[in-house]
Amino acid sequence: MSTETYAIIGAGLSGLTLALALHQQCPGSSTTIYESRPAALDIGGAITLSPNALRILDRLGIYSRFRQQAYEFDTLHYRTSTNQPLDTYEFGSAPKYGYRGMRIYRHAAINILTELVAEAGGIQVHYNKKFARVVAETREEVVFGFADGATARARYLLGADGIHSAVRGYLFPDLGVEFMGAVAVTATVPTQQLYTGRGGGGAEGEESADGEWPLPVTIMNRKYGAFVIAPQRKDGEEVLIGRQKRMDRPRDRAGWAALLNGEGQEGNKEWCVDFLREGVEEFPAIVQRAVQRIDPDTVNLWPFYRVPQLERWTSTKMSREQEQEQEQQYGRVVILGDAAHAIPPSAGQGVNQAIEDVYTFALIAGRGEKAGTGWEEGRAKAWKAWQAGRQARVDRVLELNAKVDSRRMIPLQEGDQEQGVAVEVEMEPFELGWLYQPDFEVMVDEWLAAEGVTFGL
Ligand SMILES: Cc1cc2nc3c(=O)[nH]c(=O)nc-3n(C[C@H](O)[C@H](O)[C@H](O)COP(=O)(O)OP(=O)(O)OC[C@H]3O[C@@H](n4cnc5c(N)ncnc54)[C@H](O)[C@@H]3O)c2cc1C
Repeated sequence: MSTETYAIIGAGLSGLTLALALHQQCPGSSTTIYESRPAALDIGGAITLSPNALRILDRLGIYSRFRQQAYEFDTLHYRTSTNQPLDTYEFGSAPKYGYRGMRIYRHAAINILTELVAEAGGIQVHYNKKFARVVAETREEVVFGFADGATARARYLLGADGIHSAVRGYLFPDLGVEFMGAVAVTATVPTQQLYTGRGGGGAEGEESADGEWPLPVTIMNRKYGAFVIAPQRKDGEEVLIGRQKRMDRPRDRAGWAALLNGEGQEGNKEWCVDFLREGVEEFPAIVQRAVQRIDPDTVNLWPFYRVPQLERWTSTKMSREQEQEQEQQYGRVVILGDAAHAIPPSAGQGVNQAIEDVYTFALIAGRGEKAGTGWEEGRAKAWKAWQAGRQARVDRVLELNAKVDSRRMIPLQEGDQEQGVAVEVEMEPFELGWLYQPDFEVMVDEWLAAEGVTFGL
């Protein structure tokens, strides 16, 4: 039996998109995905996609399918409790960036990707297959093992297994991820609920602005922080509501699930519902109505982690001289998406950067495979160019995150909440062309040229 070209660990958003990108860019290759869960992921909550990722999804024939199920919008609004504009943040714009922003349920996105993978033909997906370890990496292939004791082999092992990546453990056995001390607590409510019973009370000074809240909106409160209301579903008939909560103690994956799902003493979704309602009398009536009825089944937790900047996203050794040294790695193991760089949520780029990773990786792999024999020799440099290029963009996103955070923390003007005084905050709009309008094909060629990799140019 011939060795599989690519084995992908993880059938999440990165892994499935990666399989489709490799299918498109590397037509002669074969791909198998191994996923630890028993079936396609079915957790709630929507993700936000911006034009950089949507351009890629368009190239891969995914965009139109997503669009059929997504809520489209351009701008996230920041408002005071009295509905005074504080700031705006663009998530898309058809005239400016070619695409509107999109919110789509994660399970809907995963289902569409899973269908497209099945339609593509030749991509195998195996569930209930928890990657456990690399058994051996040789010059030709990687042999790896699963928790059930089985083994498999492939020419390349690609870790798209998320923030707590086990594949990353092969590259960096001692690396720990850093919990950022906060979680997002979210729930879903019918949009109608935001307006039902309007006029019956609410925060002082809010009445006049009651019907005119732009959505999606982040409502800032000096004491209780930000409250987000963001439509989802194609028809916008549901909204995500959410707040961030400080939390000192990190947990492992099972621990977070226990906290949310009622196992153990502290765990049940009621505390999340209570938290969403905390201090709600200090928020405007739209928020009070939003939290009036919350179905605990719709509650989700998103703990924020940071992966320290990694010196490499591939196993190390690739040059012939290095092969003489002791370390037995041949650059056949690669990590992508959250496994390589989890990105905090401020600029909404987590998934979007993961999609950039997988597409640019596939573009380079495609150029390499077309180059034939030169690929094996050029691979080390090519992956280096890929990582350097990707890291530079991730770094810019992290800078953008910091800017977004600092603007969100701008203190509201004295008395604005209490008296309904307009807040005149003149803020420069964020310049997002670099983020939303890249030409990835040109970008990849530039990365390769900068490293002196000539194949495919
Ligand atoms: C509740 C929540 C809400 C979020 N909302 C947003 C948002 O609105 N916008 C945004 O940009 N980002 C958001 N994020 C972040 C975003 O989900 C991640 O950036 C994105 O999912 C990363 O995709 P991934 O495929 O790399 O990892 P994951 O989505 O984590 O997928 C990894 C996959 O690998 C599988 N896996 C893990 N270990 C193994 C193993 N050992 N063997 C086999 N399979 C394995 C997992 O089961 C999973 O299917 C959110 C995250 C959470 C948790």
